[in-house]
Amino acid sequence: MSSPNPTSMSPTAAHRELVDHKWYRYRVCAPDPDEPSLAAGSIEQDGKTVRVPLSAWSAPDLDGGEPQDVRIARENMAIEACLGCRVMVACNRYANTVDADGHVTEPQGVLGGERGLDRHKRLIARRHQVVAAAPDARFQTEQKQAVLRALAVHSDPLEVAAAAGLDERTANWQRSHLVRLLGLPRDASRGDLLAAAAGRGLLDGVSVVEDGKDVPAIVPPGRPAVAPKPAKVKRRRAASRARSIPRPRSISTVSSTTARRVRPVQLSLWEIPSPDNIVSLESASRLEAAA
Ligand code: SF4
Repeated sequence: MSSPNPTSMSPTAAHRELVDHKWYRYRVCAPDPDEPSLAAGSIEQDGKTVRVPLSAWSAPDLDGGEPQDVRIARENMAIEACLGCRVMVACNRYANTVDADGHVTEPQGVLGGERGLDRHKRLIARRHQVVAAAPDARFQTEQKQAVLRALAVHSDPLEVAAAAGLDERTANWQRSHLVRLLGLPRDASRGDLLAAAAGRGLLDGVSVVEDGKDVPAIVPPGRPAVAPKPAKVKRRRAASRARSIPRPRSISTVSSTTARRVRPVQLSLWEIPSPDNIVSLESASRLEAAA
């Protein structure tokens, strides 16, 4: 069976397409409201209508308690039922998508007219095709490779940029560009981007850290810049340095920052070289009053 290239679609987008399908609620494997253990749809066998148990779509019994011929028989019933399902194409497309780790999203059971083993075999075949088609020069730039590797590990835009060795703006631009190149929608998540990249063999050898939430692949505009908090030890050192600054002898050599720390009683009016060199300070009026 052939279907549109499954790797070009993220699991999230493909699942959304499936459940939003106008016939999804009428899918063959939906539970029969009156007999929940049976599927709503049925199949024809030897001229008779046969009801299909929902267990026909289940994963193989990994305990070995189910004889092989029994498993094959029930899976064949499910596949036969899928062939009459109106959402089979969307269902098959979703079941063949690849997750962020490069695995088939639905590895077990019958979905979209295929067993889990069939989907796994197709993934292996697709990987060989991808390798044969590589390299795709558009993804092979140093910055894109760096951003992809950084995004596989980090979720926060600042951390991604830092890990990629880029400024945040450039890293965000490359993320947006990657989404376009991979044919993903603008609202794709970080997981979608990484899954699509993994499907194209762009993350081979890279371990992906799950974010556990829908982190957008494209950083939304207007995202408030998160300035890194200075470490306390640095503030203490800065304060220590400030305390060690010797007292100024002349106001003309004092920076505005330091001058604000100097109390009026420490100044000598005779050392003020010229009114033009006087920095406008809040304490100026008090100095004048003192004079
Ligand atoms: S194609 Fe098969 S598994 Fe998918 S919704 Fe239809 S009956 Fe269920």
